[in-house]
Amino acid sequence: MTGPLLTASVVLAALALVLLAPRVLPAWTALRSMPGPALLLWQSVSLAGVLCALLAAPVAVLTTGLSQPLLLGLALSLSGVMLVRLLLSGHRVGTDLRRRRAQHRELVDLVGEHLAGDPARAASGITRPDVTVLAQGNPSAYCLPGRGDRIVLTSAALDRLGAAELRAVLAHEQGHLDARHDLLLELFTVLHEAVPEPLRVPAALAEVHLLAEALADRIAEQRTGPTDLARALVAMAATGTPEVTARVRLLAHPPAPWHTRVAVTLLALVTLALPAAVVGFLTFS
Ligand SMILES: [Zn+2]
Repeated sequence: MTGPLLTASVVLAALALVLLAPRVLPAWTALRSMPGPALLLWQSVSLAGVLCALLAAPVAVLTTGLSQPLLLGLALSLSGVMLVRLLLSGHRVGTDLRRRRAQHRELVDLVGEHLAGDPARAASGITRPDVTVLAQGNPSAYCLPGRGDRIVLTSAALDRLGAAELRAVLAHEQGHLDARHDLLLELFTVLHEAVPEPLRVPAALAEVHLLAEALADRIAEQRTGPTDLARALVAMAATGTPEVTARVRLLAHPPAPWHTRVAVTLLALVTLALPAAVVGFLTFS
């Protein structure tokens, strides 16, 4: 491939992946029945977009030199803007998240009560030491990941949940902690905020959050079965939010068949191979 053509392809691929993928992927709702491969696809599409944008400048410089000033200028600005925005967004999101999480953990430790020796907790296979209960009127359960991670339940949640449902909720939260969904969501938040505000797609971030919930639901389902988990979701939801409705509906259906999951995984790998192919071309040509 000639230099200008390769540069134009990399620039167009970057723009297509960064601008179109967050609009196209949320509409592909069948992905929700295979949250693991779906999140892999989201990651590889996002990373491929970022890598193509970052590669645009080196590709232009190495393959066209100064022969295509317009293309060179476009590629340099695309890579430069992407690099600066990524670094700023990564710093801002990371610092902010850790500060807020540390404050929240301190607060929970200060006012929370430890749920120790609870039979439901023991039966759920929760091995982590910290499950904290907050005296609060709204039913809620969440985890605080990172060093000294813990699961937090409100007293209203404990009141509403039977032993089997509590097991399901704890298994769901432990699923988030074990799979480090916090890091995954942090990555997508950094990418989301690296895009200039008018071009951001909030629906994309919401879909990734839903997929992480669906994945933790699948993990919990394997330990407790879908019925207890679905009951717990309904019991915890004060009002039927669209997310809870979607999650209960997913639990009512079997996961996607293995061949569909393999196909989506392959699609993810092929997408990620795109920038790798550009690097290979530059290295060996
Ligand atoms: Zn969750």
